[in-house]
Amino acid sequence: MYDERRLSGKLPTNPDVVVVGCGAAGIAAARQLSAAGRSVIVLEAADRIGGRAYTDSTIFGRPYDLGCAWLQGPARLPYVAFARRRGFTLVDHSGARTALFVGNRRALPAERRRYERVAGQTRAALDTADDVSVAARAPTDGRFAGSVLAWLGALDHGVDYPDLSTADVNAYAPYAVNCLVEEGLGTLIAAYGARLPVRLSTPVRRIRWGGSRVHIETDGAGTVTAGACIVTVSTGVLASGSLRFDPGLPAWKSAAIERLPMGLLTKVALQFDGERFGLRRNEWLTYEVELSSPTRACFFLSFPFGSDLMIGFLGGRFAWELSGKGADHAIEVALDALQHCLGSGVRRHFVRGHVTDWAADPLTLGAYAAARPGCHDARAVLARPLGDRVFFAGEAMGGAYIALAAGAHFSGVAAARLVLDALGQPRKADRPGALPRDRTAR
Ligand SMILES: Cc1cc2nc3c(=O)[nH]c(=O)nc-3n(C[C@H](O)[C@H](O)[C@H](O)COP(=O)(O)OP(=O)(O)OC[C@H]3O[C@@H](n4cnc5c(N)ncnc54)[C@H](O)[C@@H]3O)c2cc1C
Repeated sequence: MYDERRLSGKLPTNPDVVVVGCGAAGIAAARQLSAAGRSVIVLEAADRIGGRAYTDSTIFGRPYDLGCAWLQGPARLPYVAFARRRGFTLVDHSGARTALFVGNRRALPAERRRYERVAGQTRAALDTADDVSVAARAPTDGRFAGSVLAWLGALDHGVDYPDLSTADVNAYAPYAVNCLVEEGLGTLIAAYGARLPVRLSTPVRRIRWGGSRVHIETDGAGTVTAGACIVTVSTGVLASGSLRFDPGLPAWKSAAIERLPMGLLTKVALQFDGERFGLRRNEWLTYEVELSSPTRACFFLSFPFGSDLMIGFLGGRFAWELSGKGADHAIEVALDALQHCLGSGVRRHFVRGHVTDWAADPLTLGAYAAARPGCHDARAVLARPLGDRVFFAGEAMGGAYIALAAGAHFSGVAAARLVLDALGQPRKADRPGALPRDRTAR
């Protein structure tokens, strides 16, 4: 669906800017810089673009997002207009129905009201200006607190509620857009990055930034020298040391990385033989769980777009625990969770499953960053450049849309603007040709 022409062979010398990583942040930064007339190349370690935006169509013979799936953010998020122009199918998922189970039956109306009341009380209790653990503020007694906090912590933020910062929870602006994308959000974001000058399968190993120019050393493709560099890798990758800096990172930068460890969200997709178990397409399945950490919950999206898939989500410490244990184990966990609600028919109708493992991917090492309680401010610190030469972007610096593809996008645009300020206006003769189409970077 997107243009696969990519840079190969010898790397172009002396671009104005090198962008490290071609996920949502790298794509946005490169588009912004190109639109402003700067020469830019993107170096991507993987053999595809998109990073954590990744739609696979081979596993189930239909688009399935292994990473981000919900297009969420403000109306000005350029993916939205781009998707409409390109004919993508967006289905509004705000106010989606939830099938709530208590044991093996649907919740009674009074139980449902109670669940909604606890969710409201939790939101109100967390509406606080300080930055502490959610465990210190949220109501943790009574029925349904476990389910509400499983959603908020392990599933939404990829960390258990005691590990979740109240300031992270409160950082979000409301979404004007909350859609599922039938062709896959990964497909959409890759299309948005098509035709950028990307060199695939080119890991950056070292960034030398001590002089007036930046030298970016790659595995296998030599060194590129540029006026500036934008690093968009995850905080997991930054913390791992697989990408080195020379001079080394200053203490304030290392401390910010340490305060923003990766959370984990794992998807367990279960394919069934056509049986629907009384559930509707695009509906959530949630059940009453004990309040505990690890949060041992696996909640589901039912039959997206009428497919035969129930997509299970589990996160936080439980997801890290399962990560080393293989796909079969996680599939059993998800089947147990469904069987608990829907009965033993679940196993009779089960066809096969697939499990994501972003923790084991060395190019990500987790799902998205979650500030340790009290450390939300580290996000702004992480975004500070090194010596007006090395700039940082990515979902961890996503402002009002942290952890989301939208946040990654806006952080890429912001980093590109800082680079443009640092480099000054390009000379006319330097300006490369316009991007072929869809020059909508903002
Ligand atoms: C399971 C899951 C579900 C999610 N669900 C949603 C959702 O529904 N909606 C939503 O908006 N967001 C969701 N997200 C989050 C969203 O996917 C991310 O916030 C976003 O894609 C991150 O973009 P990024 O550019 O910051 O990072 P990345 O996409 O990680 O891009 C960084 C790139 O750097 C590359 N790289 C790493 N190391 C090197 C190196 N040494 N040299 C060169 N390149 C390197 C990586 O391969 C990668 O392509 C989800 C994420 C996960 C994992």
